[in-house]
Amino acid sequence: MYKLPNNTSDYLYTQIREIFNKRVIIRSCLNVPIDKESVILNKKRLQEALPLIQEMAEIARSVVVIGHLGRPMHKDPRYSLKPVVDFFEKYFRETEIYTELIPTLDQQNIKKIQDNADLPEKKIFFLENIRFFEEEESSNPEKKNSFADTLALLGDVFINDAFADYRQSVSTYELAKRLPSYIGPRYMAEISSLSKIGFSEDAPSIVMGGAKLSEKLDTLYSLLEIADKVLVGGAMAYTLLKAKGIPIGKSIYEEDKIRVSKDILNKYNSKIILPIDHVIVSELSQNSVTQTTENSEIPKDTFAIDIGPKTINLFTSKIKNSKKIFWNGPMGIFEWETSHFGTKAIAESIASNKVAYKVAGGGETISAIEKFGLETSFNFISTGGGASLSFLANSEFPTLDVIIKK
Ligand code: ADP
Ligand code: MG
Repeated sequence: MYKLPNNTSDYLYTQIREIFNKRVIIRSCLNVPIDKESVILNKKRLQEALPLIQEMAEIARSVVVIGHLGRPMHKDPRYSLKPVVDFFEKYFRETEIYTELIPTLDQQNIKKIQDNADLPEKKIFFLENIRFFEEEESSNPEKKNSFADTLALLGDVFINDAFADYRQSVSTYELAKRLPSYIGPRYMAEISSLSKIGFSEDAPSIVMGGAKLSEKLDTLYSLLEIADKVLVGGAMAYTLLKAKGIPIGKSIYEEDKIRVSKDILNKYNSKIILPIDHVIVSELSQNSVTQTTENSEIPKDTFAIDIGPKTINLFTSKIKNSKKIFWNGPMGIFEWETSHFGTKAIAESIASNKVAYKVAGGGETISAIEKFGLETSFNFISTGGGASLSFLANSEFPTLDVIIKK
């Protein structure tokens, strides 16, 4: 669990005197889902990146925005930042602020960016997908260093607003070593909301679910340390049930996580609460007729696809009395009409607890919350994905440490 130092807010970019009339480089999270024609499917992260970009466009002398889109291994036009820049261009259309996509960092383009800082015209430069630059993720320190030096030529200060992009790349890590560096508002919102779950008086109730225990194991461990209780649903629950010796039929589980599951159950026996009944099907298909089990045992030749009504009651009774709740991971295959009830009931139960501080995160968890129309009932919805889980699991977070512990 990451513990924020008391002086963290000193590093929020709002110290305007540090920014005013300076050339600013912003690292934003621009990694949005796109379709085959590169049409953006969900603009949420761009909307979150917007406030800082807009504010800097107004007060800074020049603005360069860096981000990545997808995971291209090389220059791949399908992953060009063009549609992202179009989004911002459209937003700023009625203003005096212009946008420009910079495809490469040759001398000419570097000079263009530098010269623009002295013009009255307000222009936001978006550097093309940073993953197009092979140095960004290179393992060669010389290449990384020289690329970081080049990026540092584009500004006087650096603001990292890309909490979700938590890998130690040149633009998220090395660059921060070279310039006075700050944390952006979206980044700050993520880390302060997640920290409230971990630190501050009341022990939180944790609701965890989703597909794979292995992806969430470290986070589960870390949360078990601080939690009052951890309610586990979704497919990850079956690995834990199997480790307990309870039959799980043909339900999805991870054989190589049985041993560690036994350790977890021994160590945190009283904190972990597992499903006591299930919704099952005999074919893994959304058209299959569902049945409900009597207890935690799953019959041979059936798959569990959701938590059952008794489990819903058990979980919601715990949620009702909590003062702090963190939720990550659906309770079942909520994408199917036949198995969305568990996730919906849990989402509604969390949403209707009016006294608790409520944070939710995870790609599919957010989709579920949106599907049930409950976005506004949460205090914070983390869009950090793996970064949020890592922040909760580890005491170190390199892209933050490089700024606040410099
Ligand atoms: P998040 O993105 O919110 O962290 P995950 O990626 O861990 O969540 O898992 C989400 C997926 O887990 C969902 O698409 C859901 O269909 C699947 N899932 C949940 N419960 C089950 C289950 N019982 N059997 C199979 N898949 C499940
Ligand atoms: Mg997911």
